[in-house]
Amino acid sequence: MEPTVNSGLAKSQKFLNTSNWVVHLVRILVKAGLVVALFVGQTTYFLPLTLHIILSEILDQIFLIFSKKNETVKKLSKIVYPINSVLVINAVAYFANWIENDFYLIYLVHISSASVGYGYRTGIFSSALSVASYSLLLLHGGSEIEYFLRLPLLSILVLRQLLSQFKFEKTDQYLKEILGIEKSKQDFIALASHNLRTPVAAIYGYIEILLRGDFGKLNDRQSVFVDRIRNNNQELEKLTEQLLQISIFEVGKANNLFKQAAQVEVILEEIIEKLRVLAEDKKITLDYQRNSLMLPLIQMDVEKMQSVLVNLIENAIKYTDKGGIKVMVNQEDNWVVISISDTGIGIPTSDLPKLFNKFYRSGNVLIYNKSGIGLGLYIGKQVVELHGGKMAVDSVEGKGSTFRVYLPVAK
Ligand code: ADP
Repeated sequence: MEPTVNSGLAKSQKFLNTSNWVVHLVRILVKAGLVVALFVGQTTYFLPLTLHIILSEILDQIFLIFSKKNETVKKLSKIVYPINSVLVINAVAYFANWIENDFYLIYLVHISSASVGYGYRTGIFSSALSVASYSLLLLHGGSEIEYFLRLPLLSILVLRQLLSQFKFEKTDQYLKEILGIEKSKQDFIALASHNLRTPVAAIYGYIEILLRGDFGKLNDRQSVFVDRIRNNNQELEKLTEQLLQISIFEVGKANNLFKQAAQVEVILEEIIEKLRVLAEDKKITLDYQRNSLMLPLIQMDVEKMQSVLVNLIENAIKYTDKGGIKVMVNQEDNWVVISISDTGIGIPTSDLPKLFNKFYRSGNVLIYNKSGIGLGLYIGKQVVELHGGKMAVDSVEGKGSTFRVYLPVAK
């Protein structure tokens, strides 16, 4: 299935949740590492420092749990986490005499990377606190200048991290705005197409009344015009249905297929009988060749598959002005293959890869004389794929096209 905006959003949210979880796990591991390092270093204050580390972690965890439920706690955690972490490392640095220890530096960089879990603003706050506390402790201990020189390095590392976090958060914000617009567009299409159904049906009703002669018999000229109204209403109905289908796909509801075992060759026969008049009007042929043997049954949503096949055959008729259309159905291994060939305008090779995209119409100049908005093939491909099948096309511009639908044979 082609990814929709909604499925993309769900995936990105899932990924973000996973990556946050990883960030918190890493933080616990770093704290555990701190305890191990204190133990190995045989510090006098091992027990109180370990207790401080554990308590600070418990505090962070409490904030984490409650910040999921409460916005104020969430905001508070962005201040509490940096202070809490900087206090822990400075207590360790001071009491275990670690000010010039590399582990202290690594831990400070780690605190500064808080931006990944808490946002870039917290990252800036943590970094400022880290740099300030490191400088104060170095000053207090009267350290050599080389230790102060570590500060710019630390800052560069942290700045790079903060910058990419800033970019990420801005992109995420814009993405959400775009998704909001996309959602309103989807809602609009769903509402508009749904509401258009009623007037379209009403127009059909009035046309029938006129044609039945309830208000007097129509003369030939009037009948021609009423007929045109009916044809245009048919176009409008098709467009409305396609838009409705699209909105159903976008919200992922199309996966609800009402499948039943069906005989494709019989369905095709009915469709061809209905569409024959269109081919006759254009004085082109419409042939149907089916295997004399019964083909295996296919599990399908008959109504949805019918509209896919109708669209393919209607397209073949629409885009063919001389010659004709040949519809065939056969079995190839575990597939029932329906092929629809025409001797029409064909499709430029460069357009073929984009043909099944939403709203795509070939750049073929002749196409602009024909009605349509480029949704039929897109919907068709989605429906066929939902049935476990596939759709393919071969075409030579100016010579004709062959569309093939492969449907898996029911096991
Ligand atoms: P529509 O026909 O409403 O434009 P479709 O999604 O059914 O939308 O088809 C998309 C495009 O594919 C068409 O606009 C046309 O460019 C091309 N196409 C489809 N079927 C044929 C065909 N049988 N012959 C030539 N071009 C075709």
